[in-house]
This record gives sequence, structure tokens and C-alpha cells, in this order.
Amino acid sequence: MEPKLEPLEPLESGFSLNPNPSYRPSVPVAQSNSVNAVHRLDDDKLDGSEMNLNANNANNFEEDEHVNVDLDFDEDVMDPYALAIVPVAEDNQLAHVESAYRRKPPPRSAELVRVTNLEIEDERYFRELVRRTRILYDSLWIHCMLEDDIRRRNVMNVMSGRVPRARGDMKVAALMRDRGLWLNQDKRFVGPIPGIHVGDVFCFRMELCVLGIHGQIQAGIDYLSSKQSSNGEPIATSVIVSGGYEDDEDSGDVIVYTGHGGQDKNSRQVVHQKLEGGNLGMERSMHHGVEVRVVRGFKYKGGIGEKVYVYDGIYKIEEYWFDVGKSGFGVYKFKLVRMEGQPEMGSSILKFAESIRANPLAARPVGYVSLDMSRNKEQVPVFLFNDIDDNHEPLNFDYQVTTIFPPFVYHNVRSTGGCNCVDGCTLDCVCVKKNGGECAYDLNGRILRGKPIIFECGPFCSCPSNCLNRVSQKGVKNRFEVFRSMETGWGVRSLDLIQAGSFICEYTGVVLTRDQAQVFTMNGEDSLVYPNRFGERWAEWGDFSQVYSDYVRPSYPSIPPLEFAIDVSKMRNVACYMSHSPCPNVFVQLVMYDHAHTAYPHLMLFAMENIPPMRELSLDYGAADEWTEKLAICN
Ligand SMILES: [Zn+2]
Ligand SMILES: [Zn+2]
Repeated sequence: MEPKLEPLEPLESGFSLNPNPSYRPSVPVAQSNSVNAVHRLDDDKLDGSEMNLNANNANNFEEDEHVNVDLDFDEDVMDPYALAIVPVAEDNQLAHVESAYRRKPPPRSAELVRVTNLEIEDERYFRELVRRTRILYDSLWIHCMLEDDIRRRNVMNVMSGRVPRARGDMKVAALMRDRGLWLNQDKRFVGPIPGIHVGDVFCFRMELCVLGIHGQIQAGIDYLSSKQSSNGEPIATSVIVSGGYEDDEDSGDVIVYTGHGGQDKNSRQVVHQKLEGGNLGMERSMHHGVEVRVVRGFKYKGGIGEKVYVYDGIYKIEEYWFDVGKSGFGVYKFKLVRMEGQPEMGSSILKFAESIRANPLAARPVGYVSLDMSRNKEQVPVFLFNDIDDNHEPLNFDYQVTTIFPPFVYHNVRSTGGCNCVDGCTLDCVCVKKNGGECAYDLNGRILRGKPIIFECGPFCSCPSNCLNRVSQKGVKNRFEVFRSMETGWGVRSLDLIQAGSFICEYTGVVLTRDQAQVFTMNGEDSLVYPNRFGERWAEWGDFSQVYSDYVRPSYPSIPPLEFAIDVSKMRNVACYMSHSPCPNVFVQLVMYDHAHTAYPHLMLFAMENIPPMRELSLDYGAADEWTEKLAICN
């Protein structure tokens, strides 16, 4: 599967987009050592030296220059139960990370390519590649930060005072770079990147480097340097618009983008900008008709760092001029106009979702069937929205927040007991031990890795309700909406940004034993969901085998085959309306907490990637595998 590459139209001054017409890129997986994006090619004034990827020293990064280094994590707050975090394993897999940073990466590829006419299978292939890379990045980040919490706790036990958190985003990027796991490093894409969709949201700027969307760690303009360019001219390929320049004007489809350079440490313009480096790259891209990718970075509720980054599509550089900026110094300005025929901008969808959250009826006057189809049963309302026909069917069902199990699963539940961790659970906790000796979740309730089954603390444990080992039992936190669409019937989307690894909801209904299910089916009912048919997507979340060669997929504790069915004919919840996808953004994790019958676990759903507001949630129901086919479970 190879993307079709198209050289630019013949250009003046001998510049060609793809210098080697016979070049066909190999599929960009795990290229050996041809990987790098930390080598600073721009000669702007940031620090003039190669970027240091030492993640343990956040002070190496100066805020500057269309720069957004996420130095201040919202999470940099000690949780009262942080001390309850348990180490992951005896053989600390991150111990060798430190030395790995210092290897000098090779230079980035100078080959500019543009992809056109991607076949649908190719598009699927690349989307899957991007999906897996994001899963690895995001789950590894959770792993690294949990390790770091343990390190900080140990340091704080020795020293008093504040211990800065590691830069997990940098650390993960370095680990992946050293193993050749960065995407699209053997070429530089002009225009869209296969597998990256308009509206994709990233919590870390480093992720943009890892995926090849924007290769500069700090600079706002990414460009091929004059030294690397076939005709000696720099060529800009992407920009990040993040409010760092006072002279920027952003009205969505049209951006007046200020060139870079000339700012001091505090982002004040102190000298005139020059037409060189990225600025010259922008001018040359305009001259040659090379479009640029635009990523917007802004504060958004639900992000991890200071900002979230949203890929908003491609823009054409229409004109540029030299102007006196607000500071009184000369700046270059570039007028960027969004190209037509692209999906709606992700950043405007995020803003729209914000307005719905603030005032649903003002933001969308029509289409609500119910402002809470759970009828107050969930802690947050679940909207029912249909602006295409008069179908109100989801209101015909009882909304069921947790699964109803047959009474026999609760027999002897007390005899299994619980833990005695009055101050919160630690490594010694009997419940934590059941999870392979590691904490199943991080401080923010994000799942560390998928497992055959997770044991949370339960009603017979002595730990407090905010114990780290209680996550999915606490119910829905995000605002969901069941909505009607022409393509897929009923679907589910969130009004909040959902972080990768976060709990979404339980898949509820009434549990039937195998025998009961058989009778049910004989009566012609077809509203049964079989848990054993769900794809084992949990194994993808936290699969570090590409990073650690000795990684072993969790297999303990094993569970008996699931023979029960879930009847959703009368009672159900929001999960029932989720679409099927072979490329899902949600996975099923089996969880035990309120009884001890492991043949009857709860089906808990977690996010496999950052899911932007208004994007449809999808599950792998395991049966259908056509790209767009939904299982007609509830439609
Ligand atoms: Zn405990
Ligand atoms: Zn417990």
C-alpha cells in the first residue's frame, strides 16, 4: 500500500517537490534509524543549538517564538492519595531511558512529497498506522508519568519541597524516536498527511513531531531549510497558530500569521524580523504555490497540558507584507486562506461544543428530543438529539446505569472480603495485587494498560471512595449525546474532550445466562449483545512491545470464557448506541468490583485516543468488518 505521490507542477527556478520522480516511499513503519525531528534546522534565535530531549529537565526549554512548551501541567498537584501509587514492576523498564536520549539523531529527510488520490484501502491503512502510533504515545505517556510519580514520591521522602515533574511528553517521544517509531520521517509531506484527519486533537505538541505533522519542537513555522532544498530555497510546510504573536489575526478561514524571530524571552518583539529561515520559507512556499498545514494550539477544558493542538487542514499562502507591528518593530505578515473542500475545522467544532455545554438551547435551538434521556440517573445529563427525522425511539427504553446481574453472582460475595487499606491502597493491597502488582489506573483515573480483567476495590474494602483503585465504578463523567445521523442511524458523541485512556461508561443491560439467552433467542428476540464477541482491543492499549523487546502482554489473571449475554431489549444505556468500527476509538475492559464471580464481569468502556467533542464514538463489536458497516444492535 503506497500513497500516490505527485510532483508539483513545474516550478520556476528549478524547484521540484519530488526530486526523484521514480521515488516511491516505503510504508512508513518502524524505519530503522532514519528518524529524527529534533535536529533544529531553522536558524532562528531560539537557542541556536540542538534541542535537548532530556525529559527530566524542563528548564532546558525556554518559552519563546510561537512556542508552546507545556511546562505547566494542570496535574502538577499532589493528590492526597498519590502516595498510594504502586511501582509497576521490579525490572523498571524505563531505567535505560536516560542514556537513550543522548544519541544524536540523523537529519530529517529533505524529500518533499505530496499525496493525492489515496485509495480507500490506503487511507484505512494509514489511519490505522496513525491510530496505533497515537495509542502507543498516549499509553506510554501514562506509564512514564506514573513511574515519575513514584520517583518524585521517593525524592520527596528524602528532600522537602517541590519536585518538578518529568516531561513525559519528551521522554515518550525520545523512546519512540530511538526505536524508529516516529511516522513520516523519511519524507516531508506537503499538504495533508495520510491517516491524519482534520479535527484530530493532540494533548502534546511533541505528538505532532512524532506523527510528522509539524517537525519543530518550538518554532511555529516548519520548513525545509535552504541547505536541504533541491534549489537552495527554504520551503515552509506547516505552521502552528497558538496566540503567541500579538500581531496574529485569526478569523478561522483566514489567518494573518506573523513571521517568526525578533522576540525576547518574554515574547516581546524587540527587533525587526528578517526575511530568512521560516519567514523566507513562507515567502517561497507562497511563490511556488505550496500549501501549509495549520495546527491551532489553544487552552481547552479537558486537555492535559496548557494547550491542546488541533489539526485544522491546509491553507494557501496568498500574500505577504512587511508591517510595523504593535511593538513598533517590523514584522512579516502572511495571509493564509483555508482551502476549500475540507471537513469543518476541528478548532471551530471544539468551540461549538463549548457553546453547547454552556447553553445547549442557545447553541442549537432545534433538534433536542431530550435534555437528559437518563432521567437524572447519570451524574451528568445525556442529550438525545435528532434534527433529521421524528424518530424518538431511545426514549422507549428504561435507562440503566449499571448492569443487572443474576442474583447468584452475589452469593458468597462477603466471604471474598476486601482490602483493609484505610488510608488508600498501596502495593501491598490485596485488590491491587490481583492486578498483577501494578496500579490499574493513574492519578487521574486513566487506565495504565488493558488487561484480561481489572479488579477494582469494592463495597467490602476499607479504602475511601476516592481510592485510586476505584474508577469505572464511579460512573459517567462526560456529557454524552445520542444523536441521529443519515449514515449510521443512532450514534454517540461527547460534548467534552475525552482524553486517551479515560473511562467512558459501562455497557449496561440485563445479564442472561447461556441457557436463558438460548430461550430468548428461540423466541425470536435479537437484542442480545455477546461480550465474548467484542474484539480484544484492550490488548492494544498499553502494548509496549515495540518499545520494550521483553514486553509481555498481560495474561494474568486469565478469565473463564464469557458465556453470558446482555439483553438490551428493555433496559440499556448510552453505550448501546455506539457504532461498530474496525478502527475503533473506544475499547472494552472487563472489570470486577461488586462481586467475585469472574465469569460475570462488568463491561467497562475506555477511550483509546483523544476523542474530540462531537466525534462519533465507536467500538469493535467483533463481527462486522466492513469499514463503514455498523452492527444493527440498536438501530
Ligand atoms: Zn486496598
Ligand atoms: Zn480494595
